[in-house]
Amino acid sequence: MGKKQSSESNVRVLVVEDEESFVDALTIGLNREGFDVSVARDGQEAVNLFGAGHFDVVLLDLMLPKVSGLDVCRLIRAASDVPIIIVSAKGEEVDMVLMLEIGADDYVTKPYRLRELVARIRAVLRRRESIDHDHGEEDQILRGDIRMDVDARRCFIKGEEIKLRKKEFALLRLLLENPGRVLTREVLIDRVWGNDYVGDTKTLDVHIKRLRTLIEDNPKAPAHITTVRGVGYRFELTKASK
Ligand code: CA
Repeated sequence: MGKKQSSESNVRVLVVEDEESFVDALTIGLNREGFDVSVARDGQEAVNLFGAGHFDVVLLDLMLPKVSGLDVCRLIRAASDVPIIIVSAKGEEVDMVLMLEIGADDYVTKPYRLRELVARIRAVLRRRESIDHDHGEEDQILRGDIRMDVDARRCFIKGEEIKLRKKEFALLRLLLENPGRVLTREVLIDRVWGNDYVGDTKTLDVHIKRLRTLIEDNPKAPAHITTVRGVGYRFELTKASK
């Protein structure tokens, strides 16, 4: 995929942020990436602006004057399925599971790099697009070096087939289908095992560990399947998997 995608030329981003130093840098950086940026400086303004305009994605700071980011997220989600990316400050006590439950699509922690943020924005947009235009099950999933043939239940890394057990296949598939998205432990366990999940909570981690040994160049420093501490796992959109 090229860097300049015409479909991104008029992506409208609502930035909800009360810290001026962030607002300026973010606006300039996102403009440069081809996004149209509108800024709300408190929670109330965010809700008003959102109701009055049309946005493709919302970047939502949590600590806001007037209406909290949490409430803004709930209010927007009640009215729209626009992708919402939560931005939290480092050290802030944030219940990420709760965030995802009330409808946030992803989150980043300050200070973040613009490149990371842009990658997350593109990931939620791509995901939304694929939901909108989904004509049924994908039978091939391509993520960089990884190719999964869903119908044939086969998986290839750099062209070489890897042997996956049933649950490993299901788990990897779920991760590949949600690139850049945090999947909570509860969601992973429910979708892959359902009522079959027995034993201790380590079963999931054991499966993740095995997947890493198969798909990661360095399983001890995974670049594809990363751990989101206390929350779950995420398949990263690395340069190669975009
Ligand atoms: Ca703030």
